[in-house]
Amino acid sequence: LNIVIKNAHVLLCEPELRTVQCDLQISGGRIAGLGSGGVFRADKVIDGAHKLVMPGLINCHTHIYMSIFRNYADDLNFHKWLFDKIMPVEDRLEPEDAYWCNLLSCLEMIKTGTTCFLDMHMFKGQSVRAAMESGMRAVISRGLVGESADDPAGSGRLAEAWEEMDMARGRDRIGFMLAPHAIYTCGAGYLRHLVEMAKEKDIGLHIHLAESKKEFDDALQAYGCTPTAYLERLGLFAVPTVAAHGVYLTDEDIAILSRNGVHVASNPISNMKLGNGFAPVDKLLRAGVNLCVGTDGASSNNTLNMFKELSALSYIHKGVTGDALSVSARQALTCGTINGAKALGLGGKTGAIAPGMRADLVVIDLNRPQMRPANDLVSALVYSANGSEVETVIIDGQIVLEGGEAKTLDEERIYFEIDRIKNKVL
Ligand SMILES: [Zn+2]
Repeated sequence: LNIVIKNAHVLLCEPELRTVQCDLQISGGRIAGLGSGGVFRADKVIDGAHKLVMPGLINCHTHIYMSIFRNYADDLNFHKWLFDKIMPVEDRLEPEDAYWCNLLSCLEMIKTGTTCFLDMHMFKGQSVRAAMESGMRAVISRGLVGESADDPAGSGRLAEAWEEMDMARGRDRIGFMLAPHAIYTCGAGYLRHLVEMAKEKDIGLHIHLAESKKEFDDALQAYGCTPTAYLERLGLFAVPTVAAHGVYLTDEDIAILSRNGVHVASNPISNMKLGNGFAPVDKLLRAGVNLCVGTDGASSNNTLNMFKELSALSYIHKGVTGDALSVSARQALTCGTINGAKALGLGGKTGAIAPGMRADLVVIDLNRPQMRPANDLVSALVYSANGSEVETVIIDGQIVLEGGEAKTLDEERIYFEIDRIKNKVL
């Protein structure tokens, strides 16, 4: 399908984030051109008047099946939340339940301008199914917990990761990583084994790192070093890694992450909600670490809305550092787009608007009170937008949301199934 978006404000990132008013042409799933010159035969014309076209947001750490837990286990500290409330119910969820929860998350992400996500899950194949059906771009990672290379439970989970990679073979929109859950749920032998496996298959790793004070203190006690130094010692960072959270980091940890090219996915709202604190985002950015952003699961946020996350990222670190220049709107938006693409190994493919890139685009309605006047549209996206301005979403050249209406997903059916699952499980 050839699509043209006529005369919109288009967000470009080179040489810096800025908007220009022009046409944007899409062909064969890619951005074919910008500007109004040349002959372009469009099958579909989208009127871009009073609209802004931006690259789709990239959610670099989430657990999409967890939408069922939204507003179910609130106002609890991290360990009580995870071990007493979430884990017991997770065991009662069936794969088909997880599938519907995944679709609810995809629907929410699409409606709030996210086109790509990095998932960590525990239901074989269900995230792949949801990504395929929703039309979203995704990198999927089976959450892995185990003691050693020959631990039967750990091996079983790893076998599931390989199986779902086979399921999606040949689907360009869906990628994979291995996801050792955390240092407190994976033994050293198992972590070393996963590093070898990731090298062999040429895929990245996705892990929770230094999320809570307890994890940090326990590592000091058990290994005599920080969680970050421990993972470096195990050789984990020899493989491209997305480390989620990174709240408890020393200056030396930041140097380790920087020199190993580790991508850090900050989850500011989840960290606050679970009482885990504030990541040293300002220091990470200064150290040149590729910082991206995630919402975490819907139980610790309680939305998958990246607009909310990006504004939080910017506001919080100004407050924490006492420096209004900390995490500018431009830095926040870069973290939510280009840096996210880089972290997922999708740089040059998504995360920015330029000819040749895959067409992962969000059309924002500027005819909203919170978006006027248009003094600075980059600031408007981070500080004024709330996600409700998302009107049309295109992923890989396919229209998945048009005029606010989902095109790939059956919204009513999803709500019906979610109510049924809630009554059964919670
Ligand atoms: Zn998480």
